[in-house]
Amino acid sequence: MREEIIKSEKLNTLGELAASIAHEVRNPLTVVKGFLQLMKRQSKGEEDEYLEIILSELGRAEEIINDYLNFAKPQFEKVERVHIKEILSEVSILLNAYAVKENVFLESHLDDDGILLTDRNRMKQALINFVKNAIEATPPKGYVSISLQVTEENAVITVKDTGKGMSKEEMARIGTMFYTTKNQGTGLGTSVSLKIIETIGGRVRYSSEVKKGTTVEIILPLRNEKLKKEHVLSHHLDA
Ligand code: ADP
Ligand code: MG
Repeated sequence: MREEIIKSEKLNTLGELAASIAHEVRNPLTVVKGFLQLMKRQSKGEEDEYLEIILSELGRAEEIINDYLNFAKPQFEKVERVHIKEILSEVSILLNAYAVKENVFLESHLDDDGILLTDRNRMKQALINFVKNAIEATPPKGYVSISLQVTEENAVITVKDTGKGMSKEEMARIGTMFYTTKNQGTGLGTSVSLKIIETIGGRVRYSSEVKKGTTVEIILPLRNEKLKKEHVLSHHLDA
């Protein structure tokens, strides 16, 4: 028991240190990127190719830093009532360009809707992580689908891919800090997402088959009281 407490304290200090370094490094990177973009605009000829590589590697560095910063961020800054359908359609628009670049078909089926009590940006970020992982696991010409079903109590989001899948052992490790099978992964995305989902009492279920694909089911408790009240009110006004 005591050991557990010490362990979590150590992780906190490490997380805070990582975050402050990440924060400090981000500023000079932004400046360098700005000047490189300027150079690229004015360049003619062979250095263009080098600038392209430098910019793309800088982009990678930025991504890693963002992962670390997200990890150390406070849980929720602003809690409000949020339409889950709206968040999901934003996520799918945001990641469509990435899917196109990876030659993966991203489709979404968002017929229902419901209201969550959460931090809009953090929830969006949690969902981006799951969809991004699905795209990254999927070979060219494969599919990733996002769907939403709403019941009385829950919003169930399903992210399904036709990617490489995971063994039982791999599935057991997913969500452990720094666990990654990617060359350039940080292994922080799923940990961050799970933390956010758990904060509003949600659950995440994985099912997967190697070389077939993975299905992630994210079950989020709804806060629909207000929606129901508004419904009643507008009926009265109609009459
Ligand atoms: P990262 O994306 O940086 O590797 P994550 O925490 O997001 O870190 O994911 C950890 C690992 O879980 C990935 O490296 C990958 O091996 C595995 N994983 C996550 N989602 C999927 C998926 N949809 N299909 C196959 N493997 C997955
Ligand atoms: Mg990831």
